Amino acid sequence: MTNEIPSIQLQPGRSRRMRAGHPWVFSNELVMDAAAKALPPGGIVRVVDAGGEKLGVGSFNPHSLIAVRMLSRDPEQVIDKEFIAGLLKRALELRSRLYDAPCYRLIHAEADGLPGLVIDRFFDSVTIEANTAGMELLLPEILAALDQVIEPNNVLIKNDSPVRKHEGLELYDRIAKGELAEPIELVENGVRFLADLATGQKTGWFYDQRDNRRAVAQLSKGLEIIDFYSYAGGFALQAAKAGAARVIAVDRSEASLALASRSAELNGLTLETARADAFAEMERLTAAGQRFGMVVADPPAFVKSKKDLAAGAKGYRKMTRLAAALVAPNGFLLVASCSHHMSAENFAEEVRHGLSNAGRSGRILRVSGAGADHPLHPSLPESAYLKALLLQLD
Ligand code: SAH
Repeated sequence: MTNEIPSIQLQPGRSRRMRAGHPWVFSNELVMDAAAKALPPGGIVRVVDAGGEKLGVGSFNPHSLIAVRMLSRDPEQVIDKEFIAGLLKRALELRSRLYDAPCYRLIHAEADGLPGLVIDRFFDSVTIEANTAGMELLLPEILAALDQVIEPNNVLIKNDSPVRKHEGLELYDRIAKGELAEPIELVENGVRFLADLATGQKTGWFYDQRDNRRAVAQLSKGLEIIDFYSYAGGFALQAAKAGAARVIAVDRSEASLALASRSAELNGLTLETARADAFAEMERLTAAGQRFGMVVADPPAFVKSKKDLAAGAKGYRKMTRLAAALVAPNGFLLVASCSHHMSAENFAEEVRHGLSNAGRSGRILRVSGAGADHPLHPSLPESAYLKALLLQLD
């Protein structure tokens, strides 16, 4: 890539937020003339202010409301394989400090300097999600940089997120290197798991809950645990490993429960599974008089878009009410929400209502989000999508 890149100009008075460190420029802040509109989606541009001062380089998509995503504040920075390899090395160095095993989110978008890019690592296999036109165009450089920095054997490009449609991108999956026919293994908090990267949920494993799973496991010794929306058994098996007396995983997906059972075997742990709708199973067990020392409810996003906010919020309230009814006196409850559109305050409020509707009191032990391999850009606090509350109920 040469340094002869097109320039995009900010309108007068519109550079302050971006100068203060925000990684995005919106289309209505730019001079969107015919030349700008004709630029290829995702191409690299130099951003200049109304007076012509060069402010940095980013990728530009004339068809997206978020028109520029900044890549460097150095206006002469060349965006190539070396640049990306530098960011991968920094990200790798952080994760190596955090975790013993090479199983983590390696790149978490803007906070790791690569807007819209997500890379998850499972030993020598990686999944890549390029959610912006800029990252889509850079995929050859990203793949080459990955080969240079971590040399993965298997690389799956999982470009099937609906957010790609906002960028005018097609949805597709493609194996870029090696093969991913079988579920692959990962280690989290010392427990071995199988994840199905090709057909599993999103990227195949939810590393974001790592610290919350550890917090649940820490309290689980000797308790009976039920893990609703268990997926591949992340919470359930870490509790089992920590010495829980009995562990039940509930999910409506047979394939997810089968993975959880195989992972239990890998670790020599005992796991019961129940294929059921979570709310129906919560009601059935409550009616049957069953109570548990630890109840986990980490569901899929109930709020998929802004217009679902009211209905989704009610879902979290109901989930908390039904789950709380199953908690034995002095037992524990972990509830989580991965809905982007639900704020932490709003979630806490719904949980409070749910407890009240269940007639339960208690105390919040831990307010948390995703682990440190999901860092946040300081200018994008709203991207903290994961909320978790760990409580003890009277
Ligand atoms: N708690 C999991 C992640 C949950 S992903 C973890 O720690 O990894 C959401 C899971 O909820 C999926 O496995 C999906 O199959 C399951 N699910 C979705 N709707 C459900 C429902 N109504 N009842 C039970 N399980 C459901």
